[in-house]
Amino acid sequence: MSNTRLLIPSRAVQQPDWTRWDDLDRVLAELSGRPALVSEETTAALREELAFVARGTAFVVQAGDCAELFSDSTPERIRAKATALHTLGDLFESLTKIPVVRIGRFAGQYAKPRSNPWEQLPDGSRVPVYRGDAVNGAEPTAAARQPDPHRLLRAYELTRQALAELRTPRPTAGTVTSVLAPTYISHEALLLEYEHALLRSDTHGGRYASSAPFLWIGERTRQPDHAHIDLAAAISNPVGVKVGPDASAADVTALLDRLNPAARPGRLTLIVRMGAQRIGTALPALLDGLGPRAAEAIWMTDPMHGNTRTTAAGQKSRVLTDVLAEVQTFFTVMRAHGLHAGGLHLESAPDDVTECVASPADLDDETPLPRYESACDPRLNPAQAEEVVRLAASLAVA
Ligand code: PEP
Ligand code: MN
Repeated sequence: MSNTRLLIPSRAVQQPDWTRWDDLDRVLAELSGRPALVSEETTAALREELAFVARGTAFVVQAGDCAELFSDSTPERIRAKATALHTLGDLFESLTKIPVVRIGRFAGQYAKPRSNPWEQLPDGSRVPVYRGDAVNGAEPTAAARQPDPHRLLRAYELTRQALAELRTPRPTAGTVTSVLAPTYISHEALLLEYEHALLRSDTHGGRYASSAPFLWIGERTRQPDHAHIDLAAAISNPVGVKVGPDASAADVTALLDRLNPAARPGRLTLIVRMGAQRIGTALPALLDGLGPRAAEAIWMTDPMHGNTRTTAAGQKSRVLTDVLAEVQTFFTVMRAHGLHAGGLHLESAPDDVTECVASPADLDDETPLPRYESACDPRLNPAQAEEVVRLAASLAVA
């Protein structure tokens, strides 16, 4: 029987109430004995590529689902998501001649932090909130929303199958280390039991997370003295942390101290998601407060999570002009501080979804958005994502 649960001593938020704890223990014991999903070599290769980003000679495009569905994880769909990611990477490279490190938000993006533990239904009743397919089902019924530890095994299995599908790197204009661009995968490191069960020994006497080469810690779980940052500190993978508009220089200094004490280029990425309204004041204040230490991390822009709105029909959406405005301000502020804008972090779909709208006036429409397929946050469609990449490319070479 695994004691993985007992190995998480510090405070943890956003964890499921699994209820079926014996099942969880059996599942974790099973996962602990399974092969690593990704090798130490792959995580090290990504860290090397990210070191080029840290030095200002490469750029990251990280894109994919907010909440990935098991039903949307067939080999065919994984191919479609990877193709969409590489299309954006190729576009940026062709416009800038800057090599792009391509990181998918898929093949494991199965767990979500939520602001409210309950979801209110139109009939006035409520059900536990959807926490991602690794935890419960998206269907708004009490039965579907019951956490099921066996879903962790399904998450593992689907990532294993997806990695087999993604094994072949793609020819590109040329990456930092070769002419073939690997598809790196990533997800939010949210479910502590799952991540701990998949920790493996590395060749330097430490441990690495074998669930994905790149993991990030979300805005809601980045407290420097909590278990998620303990996890990120304990692994040798490159890691990201989301940084919202209320992050102080002291908060980020604590993250630099804990996650990258040796200031290794490529080890730590700060993913700024402040919102178009606030980034213009919050990011300069943060960078001023950090001073030269700001150069110890890669800085990326996530122009999605600070720009979530609700339409008149009650759907979560984002306005493309807000997304573009945040990207523009991010590049401007980084340049003014003598820092490299290291990448774009997008929620995007390989299909022509209509989850994000073009302009603020579109939010007033009371007709529900017609093609809304996301199980959580609204994603850009390929044309919208291309517009964001074109803007970023023009700013990167300006
Ligand atoms: C996300 O990336 O889907 C997310 C929840 O982001 P954040 O932690 O920045 O809110
Ligand atoms: Mn999201």
